[in-house]
Amino acid sequence: MQLDWDKAINEILAEKMACQACGTMGDELIVGYTRSLEAAQFAERCNECEDKSDCDARKLVVVCEPCASQYRVNGELMDETGMKSVLMEECRRNLDESVDYLATYWKEDAEIEYEDMQKSLAEVDPELFKEEDSWRLRLEEEYLTLHRWFRENRRPIPDPGWRSQYAEEVISVGYTTLLGD
Ligand SMILES: [Zn+2]
Ligand SMILES: [Zn+2]
Repeated sequence: MQLDWDKAINEILAEKMACQACGTMGDELIVGYTRSLEAAQFAERCNECEDKSDCDARKLVVVCEPCASQYRVNGELMDETGMKSVLMEECRRNLDESVDYLATYWKEDAEIEYEDMQKSLAEVDPELFKEEDSWRLRLEEEYLTLHRWFRENRRPIPDPGWRSQYAEEVISVGYTTLLGD
C-alpha cells in the first residue's frame, strides 16, 4: 500500500497549533494575555495597529512556553478546543463592547450635542458609524469562522445562547447583524 505523505503530513499538522511568535508546533500551547510592546508584532488583534512599536494594549496571544516567559504572557496551557473557546470568548467580548457603544456610549462623548442624544450614531456621525460598523462586521465574520470550527470538529459551542441575545440587542438598536435570523 502506498502511503500518501502529503495527506499524512497535513493530517498531522491539522492536529497541531503553532506558536504565534516563533512558529513552534504543539498539541498544547499557552493561551493568554500580555501587554508587552514586542508582542504587538505577532498578536492577531494588532494586525491593524498603526504603530506596532508603541502598543501597550492587552493582547490575546497563543505561544509556546519559552515565548510565554519571554513576552510575560499571563495564560494557561490549552489544547485547540480550549484555544478556540478563549478566542470565541474574546470575540464575543469585543462584539458586546461594539454594540454597547452603538447603543449608548457614543452619546457620552463631549463633542456630542445634548439634542443629538435622541438620534442614532449613524444619523449624527455617519463617518464614525461606518468605521465602527466595519469593525463590527469583521468581528462577526471572525465569530462565524470560529462557530464553523466548533461545528466541523463536533465540539459543543460554549454558551450558545449568547448569539441570539447579541442579535436581539443589535436589531433593537436598529442595525443589522450577520449573526441574526
Ligand atoms: Zn514560541
Ligand atoms: Zn496593538
